[in-house]
Amino acid sequence: MSDKKDKDLPDADELQKMLKDMFGKMGVDASMSFPGFDSLHQGGDAEETMEEPLEINQADAIFDFNYKPRDIKAHLDRFVIRQDEAKKALSIAVCDHYNHAKYMRGLEQEHGKIPEGIEYQKQNVIVVGPTGVGKTYLVKHIAEMIGVPFVKADATKFSETGYVGGDVDDLVRELVQKADGDMDLAEYGIIYIDEVDKLASGGGQSMGRDVSGRGVQTTLLKLMEETEVSARNPNDMKSQMMAMMDFQSGKGAGKDAINTRHILFIVSGAFSGLEKMVKKRLSSGQIGFGADVAEHPIDAELFGQVNTQDFIDFGFEAEFIGRLPVRVVCEKLEAKDFVNIMQNSEGSLLRQYEREFAAYGIQAKFELSAIERIAEKAERENTGARALMTVCESLLRDFKFELPGTAVSELSIDADLIDQHDKVLDKYRELGRRVDVAKAREEADLYCRDFYEKHAIRVKISDDGVSRLGTEAAEGGRSVLQICQQRFKDYQFGLKLIQKNTGQGEFELGDDAVEDADKFLSESVVQSYTDAAATRKGDVEAVEQTKGDGA
Ligand code: ADP
Repeated sequence: MSDKKDKDLPDADELQKMLKDMFGKMGVDASMSFPGFDSLHQGGDAEETMEEPLEINQADAIFDFNYKPRDIKAHLDRFVIRQDEAKKALSIAVCDHYNHAKYMRGLEQEHGKIPEGIEYQKQNVIVVGPTGVGKTYLVKHIAEMIGVPFVKADATKFSETGYVGGDVDDLVRELVQKADGDMDLAEYGIIYIDEVDKLASGGGQSMGRDVSGRGVQTTLLKLMEETEVSARNPNDMKSQMMAMMDFQSGKGAGKDAINTRHILFIVSGAFSGLEKMVKKRLSSGQIGFGADVAEHPIDAELFGQVNTQDFIDFGFEAEFIGRLPVRVVCEKLEAKDFVNIMQNSEGSLLRQYEREFAAYGIQAKFELSAIERIAEKAERENTGARALMTVCESLLRDFKFELPGTAVSELSIDADLIDQHDKVLDKYRELGRRVDVAKAREEADLYCRDFYEKHAIRVKISDDGVSRLGTEAAEGGRSVLQICQQRFKDYQFGLKLIQKNTGQGEFELGDDAVEDADKFLSESVVQSYTDAAATRKGDVEAVEQTKGDGA
């Protein structure tokens, strides 16, 4: 750490005063605290946190980028069902984008500065499609595969100035967070903005946000082109104070802005209404479709006809739409696609449900009949694959609540379970009460072994004892082992007494012991004294008899 830093760094009291003055002037409660700020400047910790960050350049990993569009699509195929055109277009755009970034980085390293005069138009993407069809899912998997940070936001949360809603620049700063503070890596991240259709102004769509939507388009446009975004939000007092401290501590010399040149932008929206507009244009005969336009049933096909002017008519600025040269459609999914998703996607939520039941020792199995029913129900929800979770959740909630902790160890999720929910639930409730004798025996034996190891007394639980334990366990949602541990607690003392009195080596605990353990033990102890006395009496008599015989 440099001398300058130590000298210039205000101490805790000075800082406290600075903050109070500053917030006082702003009319903010001066007693408020800033946790991150405090920890930076308190006592010995300050020394540690003020260290320069380690120079780990993860961004270099990107420059081993060696994927081909086919590799990326193959990866996406493992998770995302359908959407082949979108997969292809995205794979190509991503490969081109990172190959270019790699090329530029190579030149930069060679010449020591960013080379000028190399023309390149970024392949930002616009994905059109309804909700829940895999748009985000595609982008997320691409980012994961190539190891770049990924940020998603809804366009509706932004306002032009950034004061009312979120600040568009925050997206870029969020990339830094996602990259664990690695600004270099953040500069190669992916920003995904959904509901971008809501930024359309006037035009064909009355839902547009007019002035403010247009303003956000302009701000986004700047990001998509190339701009520097400050690493600290100018409207956020805390980060400004941090910046001030960094500056004073000599850190200010480092990178404090993120360049958006190599950030890939993917925007999406449902664009409902666009379809109608295009149909109208086509039917007006401009490009010769005439009367048969109304017969274009497939969105994808129709979207193939969408041109830049349609987007402008929809309410987008020409420059904005011009920065989104790659345009693809994600198609609406149908019941058969949902079946496919559940059966074949590596991210299928059926695996998640199976794991959740398995955590309670229940092996759940989804039968095809149930998968088909779930798919049909999901289709009716009209929220794409998102509905699968909603449907499964409501179908399985009662089972997930009632079965854990009962004797049920298998759950077959089939059409009956869905069609006759209450009846099937009753069946499982009944089954849950039924005793699993083999399991009860196993746990009882385990208890006996454990008892011998701890107290050197052999106990054994009879078959009727095990059966009673099993019933109790099923009814009470507890394990046989738990019941034994509680019920025969302190049994070793009584059994040792009996052992002393009678020399008995092994004890059998039957259903009477299970039913009332205290009563059984106290009676056995009393009995052992009686037996011992009888034995002693018998001995005395025998001795006297011998004496008499001898006299
Ligand atoms: P959106 O298109 O609205 O961005 P998402 O991509 O967030 O929808 O999809 C929501 C969830 O639905 C995903 O996390 C994924 O589990 C599932 N899903 C959606 N579409 C598909 C698909 N085509 N293939 C597999 N799973 C999908």
